[in-house]
Amino acid sequence: MMRIPFVDLPAQYETLADEINAAVTGVMKRCDFILGKDASLFEAEFAEYCGAKHCVGVDSGTSALELALRAYGIGPGDEVITTANTFVATAFAASVLGATPVLVDIDPQTYNMDPAKLAAAVTERTKAVIPVHLYGCPADMTPILDVARRHHLIVIEDACQAHGATYHGARTGTLGHAAAFSFYPGKNLGAYGDGGAVVTDDAEIARFIRVCRDQGQSEKYHHVMVGHNHRLDTLQAAILRVKLPHLDDWNDARRRNAAIYDEFFADNPNVVTPSYPEGFQSAYHLYVIRVKNRDAVRKHLDEQGIACGIHYPIPIHLQPAYQHLGYMRGAFPITEAYADDILSLPMYAELTEEAIQHVVQEVGLAIERTSGKGMAVSVKNAMNQQVT
Ligand SMILES: *Cc1c(COP(=O)(O)O)cnc(C)c1O
Repeated sequence: MMRIPFVDLPAQYETLADEINAAVTGVMKRCDFILGKDASLFEAEFAEYCGAKHCVGVDSGTSALELALRAYGIGPGDEVITTANTFVATAFAASVLGATPVLVDIDPQTYNMDPAKLAAAVTERTKAVIPVHLYGCPADMTPILDVARRHHLIVIEDACQAHGATYHGARTGTLGHAAAFSFYPGKNLGAYGDGGAVVTDDAEIARFIRVCRDQGQSEKYHHVMVGHNHRLDTLQAAILRVKLPHLDDWNDARRRNAAIYDEFFADNPNVVTPSYPEGFQSAYHLYVIRVKNRDAVRKHLDEQGIACGIHYPIPIHLQPAYQHLGYMRGAFPITEAYADDILSLPMYAELTEEAIQHVVQEVGLAIERTSGKGMAVSVKNAMNQQVT
């Protein structure tokens, strides 16, 4: 049996072990653990990578989203629009500030915010929109930014899965007012623990977040606002500095692996593979297919030692934590239908062509065994229909 993990962090560590160990040792020798040298150097390097003026390192992607919204004054009474198909932290960032997350359905091809649905959801209380570049594929930013401009909305990109993706040539993280990144270990750029960053061109916003993440201090023991402890750990920054120069190569490898999956799946009509519009260059944080009888297919793969994921099995509006928002089942038909069919296959830079071929064969076998044969064709057709 060929065991294939969902991500292979040990394989990546092996290629960089000496450098990472040296970077960690360096911090321990300096003992500059809190906002040390590597923390500020990483901020400068990641800002440059994104093509943004400022980067503020924080302790998670969730904190990055929350601090970005807070910096723009989002709070009680405000509405923040995002999609029903995202990781729950996108919506939590609005909720913890006392704002109300307002959800919209997704575009059937990108699985991201449908700009037309965004326009329809704007009210006089809407203050911000959080487009999510889910799976590493950019949201359709041009029409989203048009809506935002018309209604004077702040745009915070949730780029937690999209380090190095591009939208018509521009890096995600530079398309709105500010962007949130996560360095959770399994992300395209992952630390060895939690980490995150806010990226922005706005010097005032960067300064606010810098003070807010560090106990509201403008200087030591001088607290100009009620702050938090949301600092990026220096050890994590040191590790991220070793990894950042490899990010583009890793993303290229992910894209190559996605193309290999696409090719092997091409003659299987029962599998819907990702296919993004011209100009949307995914960083393939995840390679997500759609199949009928998804749970049975997943069980078969699991038995064969192939680890998969579901991103995400329960849409935001159907989460117990969000029953108070009052959305009914059926509110977001595309998100809900996809939640039953989506399956994230193993995806990482070190994945071999042989492993990909094996996964594709086993997906095919699983579909035959679960008598799902033929059923997913309707899914494929539905995907091309304009669902309204
Ligand atoms: C990972 C992730 C987050 C949260 O990041 P953490 O670092 O885990 O707090 C937010 N949004 C999306 C889309 C994510 O994938």
